[in-house]
Amino acid sequence: MSMPNAGAAPARVVLIEDSEPIRQMISVYLTNNGMKVFEADTVGAGRRAVNLLKPQIVLLDLGLEDGDGIDLLPEIVTQKIPCMVISARSQALDRVISLEKGAHDYMTKPIELRELLLRMRRMIASQATPTSPNDTIWAFGDIRVDQALRAIITANGSKNVPITATEFKLLRIFISRAGRVVDRAELAKVIGVRSVEVSRALDISVSRLRKKLRDSGYEVNLRSVRGSGYLFSSDQITIGEPLSDDLDAVEAPETSLAS
Ligand code: CA
Repeated sequence: MSMPNAGAAPARVVLIEDSEPIRQMISVYLTNNGMKVFEADTVGAGRRAVNLLKPQIVLLDLGLEDGDGIDLLPEIVTQKIPCMVISARSQALDRVISLEKGAHDYMTKPIELRELLLRMRRMIASQATPTSPNDTIWAFGDIRVDQALRAIITANGSKNVPITATEFKLLRIFISRAGRVVDRAELAKVIGVRSVEVSRALDISVSRLRKKLRDSGYEVNLRSVRGSGYLFSSDQITIGEPLSDDLDAVEAPETSLAS
């Protein structure tokens, strides 16, 4: 994979397109050029992806199975996310309406990929207040965990549940070890509890985290494994940025376990 911007975190792109071959073609090309592409094939899936992932750029097809992409434009634009319309519709009216509704750019299919990339890079560069691609965002189910805000956010934005530093650290290690048991001693160390004997503090923290995820609408599968630790299972995690197992990468220790 060629990574022209190696070192920088890849720009997050949400690609909303119902034609699988076109989606594939664009997705592969942009990925090979250092972008992180999240695909959606309907207005509904696109809305969810945009709200959850807060991408740097959105590519939006107009003719979608469950509606017209143009209806999504105002929602994307209000979030100050630049949007490029990619459509087979070549009529001037579609172009004018799209631009009127806030699209930054408009390309008519068939798409010339190199041109698309150049235009996208220009759009990203011209963002007045670019969102940092370094912000860690984890999305699963219909929720998003935002490291910068340190909160759980629902896809429709109706809820914003703050999580503590301890809960964040726990979630981080659970996600990085999804499907594997993380043992109690290690978790105790992560949250700054000296001895496994005071493991009740750990159980309380895990319970709180679990409750917050569930209250936000995510039926999290996070269970205690008798005598060893905790197991987090999820087959629907989307990790905004890669996670490492490196515990040293975890942020400064929290002074108190109390939330
Ligand atoms: Ca279409």
